[in-house]
Order: sequence, then C-alpha cells, then structure tokens
Amino acid sequence: MTIPQLTCIITIMKSNNPKLFIFTGPSGVGKGTILADFFKKSDHKIVYSISNTTRSPRDGEINGMHYFFVSKDEFEKLIEENAFLEYAKYSENYYGTNKNFVEGKIKEGKSVLLEIELQGALQVMEKCPEAISIFIKPPTFEELEKRLRGRHTESEEMISKRLKAARDELANANKFKYVIENDIVDRAVDELIEVYLKETR
Ligand code: 5GP
Repeated sequence: MTIPQLTCIITIMKSNNPKLFIFTGPSGVGKGTILADFFKKSDHKIVYSISNTTRSPRDGEINGMHYFFVSKDEFEKLIEENAFLEYAKYSENYYGTNKNFVEGKIKEGKSVLLEIELQGALQVMEKCPEAISIFIKPPTFEELEKRLRGRHTESEEMISKRLKAARDELANANKFKYVIENDIVDRAVDELIEVYLKETR
C-alpha cells in the first residue's frame, strides 16, 4: 500500500500510535549533542529522519547517515516530484524532509523525529497538528553565539547568517508545545526523554 499524502500519515498515527516529533532550535544550541545521547538511551521505537541537503558535508559527516547530500539540481527535482514533507532554504542551502522516509518508518510502527529549522517546523505543525513540537533554547543569546563560534565549523559570514536566523527562531519558541532549555546537556536530555515517554505512553 502506498501512502502518498500527509493526511494518511495522520490516520496511521491515530491507529498505530507512532508519533511524529518536531525538534527545532537555533544553530549551535546543541541539538546534535542532545539527540546523540537521547537516541543512545531510547528504546529504538523512534528513529531520526535523515534529511536531504545541498550543504557540503562537514568533516566526519557520512552520506545517508547524517544527511543525504545532493546537488541543487537534484534537490529542485525532488521539489518538483513532491518528494518533501517540508523543505526550506536556510543560510543559502536547501534542507528537506523526505516524505517516503517518514511514511515508511511510520508504517513500520515507529515514531519519527524531525530535526529541522523553524520554517520547516511551522510547515509540519500546520499540515500535521498532531505532531509533537519541541523547541530547544539556549540559556542566553550570548551563550549561543559563544557555542556557535566555538564549533569552528562555519565561516564568519555563515555565523552571522545563523545568528540572524537564531533571533527569528527564538522569537517563535512560544509556538511549540514544549520548550527545553539546554543549560546542562544531561538535564536537557532527561527532559526530552520525559516528553518522549509521556507522549508515546
Ligand atoms: P546544519 O547545516 O547545521 O546541519 O543544519 C542547519 C539547520 O537546518 C539546522 O537548524 C537543522 O535543524 C536544519 N535542518 C536539517 N534538516 C532539515 C530539514 O530536512 N528541513 C528543514 N526545514 N531544516 C532542516
């Protein structure tokens, strides 16, 4: 059976109880660190959605594991084919959630976590109101800037773009069902686990 529409995902979510989690927060807030620990401790009934992106891989990033890295032409072809549940342009690169990937996992009875930026998160929240939205915020904006610079993964130009996007994202945190502050990673992970257990009970 093929499930071409998002509305079908919602039906399946109601009948089998797998949930769709949206996990958003500004670049540099520590989403990756939190999720690495969360998935290590999780019950394997939840999977990470591997996005498509036109961004170049960073050192250590593996195609098909961290992202599916594609060219701009390939990404635009996927847009035309309606392959995305959502997509957005962020800091001059495209990022998108592959609809087939998410539908496949939901069909298997697994919950799926989308680690996506604000524009994409708002698209999914509108299309799929049952999705559980979680926003990760930094203790302060200054702390976020410090963390982003400390990563040494982006150029100064890119850091400025990401900080500008971060202000926008933080201003929208109140649209999310849960807001978790990443003050101490272990504490933030515990809070995320609590949310996960509560919502999938
Ligand atoms: P990065 O380049 O640091 O890996 O990701 C930049 C931003 O894009 C992050 O906020 C990340 O959560 C977001 N992102 C990753 N995959 C997707 C996606 O499929 N869709 C959207 N809208 N954002 C994504």
